[in-house]
Amino acid sequence: MKREILDKGFIQVIDKLGNDLTVVNSARVSFGKRKEKFDESDRKLVKYLAKHKHWSPFRHLMVQFHVKAPEFVMRQWYKHVVGIETTSTSSAKDHAWNEISGRYVPVTDFYSPHNWRRQSDDNKQASEGSIDNQEAANNLFSEVMQHVLNSYEKLLELGVAKEQARMILPLNQYTEVYWTASFQAIMNFIDLRDEATAQWEIREYAKAMKEMMLEIYPETTKIWFEVN
Ligand SMILES: Cc1cc2nc3c(=O)[nH]c(=O)nc-3n(C[C@H](O)[C@H](O)[C@H](O)COP(=O)(O)OP(=O)(O)OC[C@H]3O[C@@H](n4cnc5c(N)ncnc54)[C@H](O)[C@@H]3O)c2cc1C
Repeated sequence: MKREILDKGFIQVIDKLGNDLTVVNSARVSFGKRKEKFDESDRKLVKYLAKHKHWSPFRHLMVQFHVKAPEFVMRQWYKHVVGIETTSTSSAKDHAWNEISGRYVPVTDFYSPHNWRRQSDDNKQASEGSIDNQEAANNLFSEVMQHVLNSYEKLLELGVAKEQARMILPLNQYTEVYWTASFQAIMNFIDLRDEATAQWEIREYAKAMKEMMLEIYPETTKIWFEVN
């Protein structure tokens, strides 16, 4: 399952744990019961669990994503930190990150926006619509990118280490990560990032992730969004 995002990015499901029955069976272990087929009573139970914040059963569902995104998008993603550190004993410790390293591999891909958005008047961190002079912005962007890329290649040719040459690269460089997280953590990401005030680029990833979750865990995801 894979979705192309932006000009060179993507999000792909590598692996998943559990199905719609996992949540209800995890909850029903409390009274020693287990179901083999999802039915109306399970729908009610999932709704009850989600509504009353009984979130631990939702953490038995895990998805491993392969994400390719510009660094400025990934910097926003990195803020979803619950569970990244490995010493915590918290039950919310459910993320795992691994990332391509610009110390090993030269950076080759950069994001080029198809639209230059205007600074929002009423929200200091947001954008709205488009600027009028797209051509001028495109020209400026291409000029800077050409200069940066030439200089990066030149530094590598001079024998400068990749770990140091990359210092001159801008935030539109693409990076790749494997991100494994629980259903609860993924829903938190979607809630916060497929939202009107989130940046357009990260919303594209959150929207695709929402579609994928609806495919992987259709009942649980649908109910979660009805309740939350
Ligand atoms: C539109 C937008 C703009 C933003 N702007 C900025 C910005 O300008 N600067 C900036 O630094 N960040 C910014 N952020 C990031 C934001 O502050 C959060 O760090 C990020 O969205 C991760 O959310 P989270 O804390 O829910 O995720 P996680 O850290 O993954 O936490 C998941 C959930 O775990 C629980 N939790 C986490 N830690 C604790 C704790 N210590 N105690 C109890 N419960 C806990 C909470 O319920 C939390 O929602 C922005 C986010 C959005 C969506």
